[in-house]
This record gives sequence, structure tokens and C-alpha cells, in this order.
Amino acid sequence: MNIHEYQAKELLAKWGVPIPKGIAAFSVEEAVEASKQLPGPLYVVKAQIHAGGRGKGKFKELPATAKGGVRLAKSEEVGLAAAEMLGNTLVTIQTGEHGKQVNRLYITDGVDIAKEFYLAFLVDRATGRVACVASTEGGMDIETVAHDTPEKIRTFTIDPATGWGAHHGRSVAAALGLSGDLAKQAQDTAAKLYAAFIGTDASQIEINPLAVTDDGKLMVLDAKVGFDPNALGRHPDLVELRDLTEEDPAEVEASKYDLAFIKLDGNIGCLVNGAGLAMATMDIIKLNGAFPANFLDVGGGADKEKVTNAFKLILADPAVEGILVNIFGGIMRCDIIAEGIIAAAKEVNLGVPLVVRLEGTNVELGKEILANSGLPIVSADDLGDAARKIVAEVKKAA
Ligand code: ADP
Ligand code: MG
Repeated sequence: MNIHEYQAKELLAKWGVPIPKGIAAFSVEEAVEASKQLPGPLYVVKAQIHAGGRGKGKFKELPATAKGGVRLAKSEEVGLAAAEMLGNTLVTIQTGEHGKQVNRLYITDGVDIAKEFYLAFLVDRATGRVACVASTEGGMDIETVAHDTPEKIRTFTIDPATGWGAHHGRSVAAALGLSGDLAKQAQDTAAKLYAAFIGTDASQIEINPLAVTDDGKLMVLDAKVGFDPNALGRHPDLVELRDLTEEDPAEVEASKYDLAFIKLDGNIGCLVNGAGLAMATMDIIKLNGAFPANFLDVGGGADKEKVTNAFKLILADPAVEGILVNIFGGIMRCDIIAEGIIAAAKEVNLGVPLVVRLEGTNVELGKEILANSGLPIVSADDLGDAARKIVAEVKKAA
């Protein structure tokens, strides 16, 4: 679960991390009012969307010459900047071409920047530890830095048994090329960020940029924070920060029914039980020259209601031109699943080709039920057969 920059900054400030003053705003009036409460004379008006690259982003509704989603403004310019951003669609390298509508702003103190750094904490699955990533090349897209000048990125991991130590702080300061008082500030800030990471069960805290100001202060100017969804039960206060408008509506709907669903760009909807089987199904669709419209795992104990909701989710996507059901009946018997599929197909008024591959307990009975249903369901024998059939059906229908 990701949160907005202003929420991340309010959270990190509680952990003692140095953040310039700022106030969230949901309207032009609130933005102007917020600026009056800040010291000024320079402000930064920042679009709040769950994506980075806002500074270099472009608004769909504005001319190409217009500024992006992070704008330096004098007091009289705050209102105009806010008016140009609110309600408009910001396209950045991270949003995809559709962009994201800006519904919230963050008005913050304009800081005189002497140097920008990158500092992030994330979960390193290879070592099973939290990794700290530091680079002198802040303010830029870190993927580009990693690609062009990997030697400018330093990474180390923290042993969870001993936690953060003074040597970790020194490593961060050294990686950023800092000495003296700035090195101390870097050590202090890094320790606090690590404490925040552990304390909130975060999955990522990315500070880009971590800036040195003209008057020698280290400040967090941008923060991207995400949490481990499996740990949210321990943090009801963090769950409150969720902004459903930032998430894919189909994925939000799926989470209500406890379906693991991720929207993808293809045209073949997949309804599968088990994450591994779902991955294999997507792979084999691609192998046959088509693309999956989604990842969907209905889980081991899928019943008729779950299957019906899954069908509805898939069919709500106008890009879907065919559905491949691939179910292994282990705990669930294939005949029960077949009945569920038929009931669901009738209920949702299926208008696209449907290929079903069943395997497992009572598979023959399941296939018989499908064949006798009177519905135009194509039965498949194995995974390869199923993928070939659905790709062919979709081509035929086109
Ligand atoms: P994004 O990463 O989405 O583009 P940032 O918050 O990192 O958004 O802003 C982009 C750039 O704008 C930063 O690298 C920094 O140079 C500048 N910037 C951001 N916040 C401030 C601020 N409070 N004062 C001065 N400059 C800022
Ligand atoms: Mg940034």
C-alpha cells in the first residue's frame, strides 16, 4: 500500500526526520490559505499522485510548454499553479500514458538547494534484510543512474538481529561524500529513516531528493513510502491513509472479495486458482502470441460466488475479448467448479468466447456438466491446448 508524499512527510516528521514545513490542499482556496501559513517568500506547489517524476511530468490538458507537477511559486503565483493542476491529468514516466488525475496538492516551503542526494530503504529479498541505497546522484531517476553510472550507487544491508549501528550511519555519510556536520546530519537522518521503516513495517522509503540547503541543512524534499500489505493489521492508523482513487478500481473491487487480482494490458482474461498456476497461464498465453488482460487467483477454496465475482471483474474490462478458465480441482471438486462456472456465465451474460480447462478430482464429470450446459463453452484438455484454443477463438471472433 502506497501513500502520498504529504502523508509520508507527516509520518516521517513524527520519527524526527527533517522535513520543510508544508500543508496539504484540496482546492485552490486551501492552497492559497496554506501558503499564507508558511514562512515564504518562495513556495513549492506539488501535485499529489502515487507516482514519481512529477517535476518533469506534463499535464494533458495544458499546452506542452506549461510547467509540470512540481512548481516553484511566489505568493501571488500559488493560486494559479494550484488552479492549473487540480482536476487535470499529470503524465509522468511512472504513470503510463493515461496519467493520473491530480486531486490533492501539497504546498511547501521553497528551499535553496545546494546539492541533491538519493537515499532509500527497501526490502532486499535475496538477503532477507532491509537494504539501504545511497547515491550522490539525487533528484534524478534512480533507474537511469543505476543503468548509466552504477558505481555511483552504494548499497548495503542491515542485519535484523543487531539493527542499525553507528557504522551504518558512517557508510551513508561516506557514500554521499559528506564530512563534518553534514555527515552527522546524514547519520542521524538515516538512523531515523531506518527506525521509521522498521516501526511502520514499510516495504519502501525512498527519499529523492535528500537535499543539502544553502545554509548547510540536510532536508527531505520528496518521500515515497509504501507498506507491506500483510502487516497493515498492526497499523490501523496507516490503513486510514489509503487513497482508493489512486488504485485501479478493478483491483479495489477485487480486494473486497478477497481475490488476488492485477490488471494487465492484454485482451485475454484469466480466471485461475493458485498464484503459480496463474503465472503459468499468463506465460502460456504469451507463448501463443496473445497477452493476458489480468492476473487473477481465486484461491484454493473458490466457490460459486467467488467465481461469479471474478467473471464480473474480468468482463468489466472492455479490453477483454476472451476468457480462459484454468482450474485445478484439488480441495474443490471439478464438478462443483463446473457448476459454478455455468451459473456465473449465465448470471453475467457472457458475450466473449470462454475456454475452460479443468483438471483434478472428478474432472470427467466436470467436463460432462460443461458439455451439457448448452452454453458455448470450449473445453480444453491441458494448459497448452487451452491457451491455443482461447487465442484461436479470440482471433475467430475478431
Ligand atoms: P518528483 O520526484 O515526483 O519529480 P520531487 O518532489 O522530487 O518530485 O520534486 C522534483 C524536484 O523539485 C526536486 O528534485 C527538487 O529539485 C525540486 N523541489 C522539490 N521540493 C522542493 C522544495 N521544497 N524546495 C525547492 N525545490 C524543491
Ligand atoms: Mg522526487
